[in-house]
Amino acid sequence: MARKGKNKRYTQKKRYRRRIGIGTIGLVGGISLCYLAVPTQAYKKDKTCEAGTIKLPISTILVNGQYLIDQNVVDRDEILVYKDEPKVYVGTNEEGLQYGYDANIIADKLAHYDYSNNGEKIVFLTFDDGTSTTVTPKILEILKAYDVKATFFLLGSNIEKGGEQAQALVKQIFDEGNAIANHSYTHEYRILYPNRTLNLENFKADFEKNEDYIKEILGVDFTTRVLRCPGGYMSWDNMNQLDSYLLENDKVSIDWNALTKDAEGAKKDKDQLVQEAKNTSEGKEIVVLLMHDTYGKEATAEALPEIIEYYKANGYTFKTLI
Ligand SMILES: [Zn+2]
Repeated sequence: MARKGKNKRYTQKKRYRRRIGIGTIGLVGGISLCYLAVPTQAYKKDKTCEAGTIKLPISTILVNGQYLIDQNVVDRDEILVYKDEPKVYVGTNEEGLQYGYDANIIADKLAHYDYSNNGEKIVFLTFDDGTSTTVTPKILEILKAYDVKATFFLLGSNIEKGGEQAQALVKQIFDEGNAIANHSYTHEYRILYPNRTLNLENFKADFEKNEDYIKEILGVDFTTRVLRCPGGYMSWDNMNQLDSYLLENDKVSIDWNALTKDAEGAKKDKDQLVQEAKNTSEGKEIVVLLMHDTYGKEATAEALPEIIEYYKANGYTFKTLI
């Protein structure tokens, strides 16, 4: 028995070293709360986190299970290594991937006003400015009842306003296989586009703040490459600066080509919203429908069943933007 145990330990040790040696993920269980999105190395535990946060990459492996980290010799049990490769979520969970569609392709189509898709009709239901504790739960209930997925462009300041309940809704959106995208933290035009002109530094900071906030809720292995500019990309000057940033960072900005007008003009009732969705979708094989699930948009939730039924009756498949 003793010998068997010894062999087992030896095997583990060998595997551990080999994995670290090639710079990939090793083992050491019991750590689950804190992890990095792209762990290609082992890291030293940080005392600030109970489960072990990650700070310093290992530069050298010494003999006798000791490692050199930032010029300090450290024992193996102070090292945190991943047991398995963590999942890096891009916009949606594993279940949601089957509904996901490359947002780059759709953004490109929209930029060229080309809504054709070889006869195959697809619709992207999109909801901006959530989550709200009043409307988002209704939207989710309807999506579930119709077994349809949507893309939610989340707004951090609103989530913060809604407290724990709004945060739980972010989790629910994700867990139910919908896609999550970034719609900035503040939504403040005067910060993002002073004098109607893009301020790229402010823009980046605001979107990064929002992404970090969503990670706080969903976990650090969540990320999204899809974003929507508050007010729409089309509305502002100097947006060519944003293009190179998006390209370099593999991000996609996407507007819409249909809308219920639940945030435009006079307040509309359910029937008017449904009618606007139909009017603006007509003749399009690709539809990206803009709606809002924020405070005061109860009529959007009321209209949603008929909107979904309209697309179903007209042969559309429901997809999400990832
Ligand atoms: Zn918005």
